[in-house]
Amino acid sequence: LPVEVKVLEKRNNYVKFIISGVPVAFVNSLRRTIIAEVPVMAIDEVVILDNTSVMYDEVLAHRLALIPLKTDLESYVLPEECVCGGIGCSRCQVKLVLDVEAKDGDLMVYSGHLKSEDPAIVPVSDKIPIVKLAKGQRIVLEAYARLGRGRDHAKWQPGLAAYKYMPKIVIDESKCNGCGVCVQNCPRNVLEIKDGKVTVSKLLDCNLCRYCEIVCPTKAIRVEHEDSTYVFFVESFGQLDVKTLVLKALEVLDQKCVKFLEECEHAIEEFKKE
Ligand code: SF4
Ligand code: SF4
Ligand SMILES: [Zn+2]
Repeated sequence: LPVEVKVLEKRNNYVKFIISGVPVAFVNSLRRTIIAEVPVMAIDEVVILDNTSVMYDEVLAHRLALIPLKTDLESYVLPEECVCGGIGCSRCQVKLVLDVEAKDGDLMVYSGHLKSEDPAIVPVSDKIPIVKLAKGQRIVLEAYARLGRGRDHAKWQPGLAAYKYMPKIVIDESKCNGCGVCVQNCPRNVLEIKDGKVTVSKLLDCNLCRYCEIVCPTKAIRVEHEDSTYVFFVESFGQLDVKTLVLKALEVLDQKCVKFLEECEHAIEEFKKE
């Protein structure tokens, strides 16, 4: 079967597409690569200079790390791949400074208070609450953001990816009496009655729960799935736009495959020598 991709819905941070002609292992690899292998920026080290808030330094650092940062994969490299050897330079890290004081009453500190040295690497939203300061309390810190992968820490996860088999609903019209029991019980409003028979109106919304099958008194409806067709969803947390996220994941997968083939060839050569 030829591989086909059909985009159903696309926004800046969300895409839903149908992919067909591939085994389930492939779509699962793509899902895992998206959530665990595509590098994005996150705060990785925090130097606290002053913290008189009620929040412990460690908790504050942890909260900062979980703020998604807009990521520019062209300008930065992973610390372990950097010429500096990972000690930290302008190619592999970005400094963000937080310097806030509640001078005249309580102050809510938001992600927007972080000042980044690179305008391209900033929080995806200015409205993420970090900590509330009471009058007189102060926080001064330097945070260092670096690229990393979701497999090492959830703070580096770029988004969500999931898939389901393409549903296939088979109706035996000779058995269906149009009672509508399946329509009333379907949790996703997939079915409707037309001209005294049940029909499928929103196939893609079906979650394959098979409840319609169970409740049908005449066993007229059967829920199956297509063998090599899947509905795939990707949602980015905002560090990368969803197109870059999927393309980068495919690139990583491609590199892994090339590496794997090289290793296989190498192993074959070694065995031949024995
Ligand atoms: S419950 Fe069965 S018989 Fe009733 S409308 Fe649905 S498919 Fe037809
Ligand atoms: S399998 Fe579940 S979601 Fe799909 S049509 Fe039947 S009841 Fe609705
Ligand atoms: Zn470096």
